[in-house]
Amino acid sequence: MTSRRKGADVLVAGAGPAGSAAALALATAGADVVLVHREHPSRWHAGESLAPTARPLLEHLGILDRVTAHGHRPCYGHHSAWGQDTVTASDFVGGPYGSGWHLDRPLFDRSMREAAREAGVSHHSGCVTAAVPAGDQWRVTVSGAEVVAPYVVDATGAGARVARRLGARVLATDHLVAVATVLTGAGPQGDTARGNTERTSLIESAAFGWWYTAPLPSGQHIAMAVTDPDLVARAGLRTPAGWSDALATSRHVRERLALCGTRPPQRLTVLRAGTSRLSAAAGPGWVAVGDAATATDPIAARGITTALATGITAAGALTACAGGDEHALERYADLASAVHAEFLRARMVCYRAGRRWDTPFWTRRTEGRPVIGLGEAGRVADARPGSWR
Ligand SMILES: Cc1cc2nc3c(=O)[nH]c(=O)nc-3n(C[C@H](O)[C@H](O)[C@H](O)COP(=O)(O)OP(=O)(O)OC[C@H]3O[C@@H](n4cnc5c(N)ncnc54)[C@H](O)[C@@H]3O)c2cc1C
Repeated sequence: MTSRRKGADVLVAGAGPAGSAAALALATAGADVVLVHREHPSRWHAGESLAPTARPLLEHLGILDRVTAHGHRPCYGHHSAWGQDTVTASDFVGGPYGSGWHLDRPLFDRSMREAAREAGVSHHSGCVTAAVPAGDQWRVTVSGAEVVAPYVVDATGAGARVARRLGARVLATDHLVAVATVLTGAGPQGDTARGNTERTSLIESAAFGWWYTAPLPSGQHIAMAVTDPDLVARAGLRTPAGWSDALATSRHVRERLALCGTRPPQRLTVLRAGTSRLSAAAGPGWVAVGDAATATDPIAARGITTALATGITAAGALTACAGGDEHALERYADLASAVHAEFLRARMVCYRAGRRWDTPFWTRRTEGRPVIGLGEAGRVADARPGSWR
């Protein structure tokens, strides 16, 4: 039995960047929106950087200054030792959108949620646990309460928890993981002579996959080894000591962290970083946005930008659909599928350019076969059509 019942035009499940962007764009278009936010105080964030291409999207939402003004640090570009042992620099500053940001991710997500609230979005704390069709509405259960709405947005991240129960399948291309840690350094920080070098992200390929490091706004450094799950143990990445030994065999990431005086890791966190897409990013009365629709290998560093873009685009499609355009959601689903297909092509080019080893990680990605590294494609998601319980 549910104790409370509320009506809305749209229920958005999940309040990461995709959900907040969709909710904000819908509210701006005049919709009555409920945004469901699941509190997750201990959620580990990967220390993401936000690409400069996010700038026009945040401007479109009217929140550029608000969400980037405080608490983040500029990101001036990427350095990478990818297909060769020397570092090449890709500079944002000369590009059309200027620098990006090394994000304080919890702060960024919070600012977006607050902007949505100020635009009139109702917030609802809890977890969406069921969505069942009732005529031309959805009856959605949120931690014991019920919300009735004609449209539902799945913004629950790569798990696509709503869409899977509505019949969509998650199609996984790989099950990449990042074995990550936050390192505290005693070396130069902030506005020192070396500040500019440190305010770039750095990627270096390795036999098992690749290394990534970037400065965090806190002055610490994120560092991660990215590989397939079945290669973690073989690469010695299971323990902090083994991870440090593997790092010692890198050149540029090791040197940068040494320059910053970082201490060895005390603990490691394993993050899912796989590439996947939904079999369909929309269906009658629902759409999926962000990672729920298309989750991309972090080598592209574009997940948050895609989350914003799909949130905005899906909001437009829902608005058109509510206005009588019968094909708006179908067009959105086609677009999401095309964007993902383009990503897969770019990813293949990227890994071919980076290949320096004939190890499983690199052969899996460069020989035109599906990259899995854990069972069959789609196995991680058990999709069943029907109502969601
Ligand atoms: C290792 C790693 C490094 C990355 N680096 C970068 C980078 O440098 N730059 C970049 O742009 N991207 C990066 N990404 C990708 C980026 O983190 C994601 O693309 C982005 O977070 C997707 O946003 P989202 O809103 O779709 O999903 P999420 O941020 O995952 O948000 C989903 C929200 O839904 C909530 N939720 C889940 N289930 C429910 C439910 N049933 N009910 C209610 N709420 C629910 C979750 O708690 C969460 O708050 C990286 C990812 C990884 C794994």
